[in-house]
Amino acid sequence: MDATAIEAESGPAKRDVLSLPVLLLNRHFAPVTVATAKRAMCLLYGGAAHAVDQEGDTHDFSDWLTLPVRADDDGLPIIGREIRVPRVLHLLRYERTPRAIVRLTRKNLMLRDQFQCQYCAKRPSQRDLNVDHVMPRSRGGADSWENLVVSCRFCNLKKGRRTPQEAGMTLLRPPHRPRWSTATQILLVARTPYEEWDPFLKAG
Ligand SMILES: [Zn+2]
Repeated sequence: MDATAIEAESGPAKRDVLSLPVLLLNRHFAPVTVATAKRAMCLLYGGAAHAVDQEGDTHDFSDWLTLPVRADDDGLPIIGREIRVPRVLHLLRYERTPRAIVRLTRKNLMLRDQFQCQYCAKRPSQRDLNVDHVMPRSRGGADSWENLVVSCRFCNLKKGRRTPQEAGMTLLRPPHRPRWSTATQILLVARTPYEEWDPFLKAG
């Protein structure tokens, strides 16, 4: 069987429902993280969590099975029938509100610095923005939240292998690790957050 035959059989429109994102809430309904539908189904089946529907009602596994799979729902095929894939899960015994861990990436640096050159305050197009080492890498400057800022090409060039002080340039604000809440972080990272997530993320 070649690849085309396999695709024809499974159908290109068929999505991998077990990989869909599910918002996990702690005992107090505060967002904790995003998990896969596969993990969510295990938690629901095992009794560690209840599924939350769009009305905010919670359902245990056997109760959830009785809900219909509607047009906008994702369905998980299980022997002869379909189960609605939950989009929000309430962890019954999980107390903690983990602090968001914000990964050091180019995108997150852009978000922290609001797509603004930290030297001249201009906001050129993203293509014309660089990530600048405040203490140049060639002089031991680290790849860290505290040593990286967003800078336009012009300022980057002007600064060269100097510190801002040596180049006579001033930073708009000292760079630091962002203090985003878990809810903010989930909103930033999730590519297609569901409407069902809104009440929990906005409240956070
Ligand atoms: Zn600039």
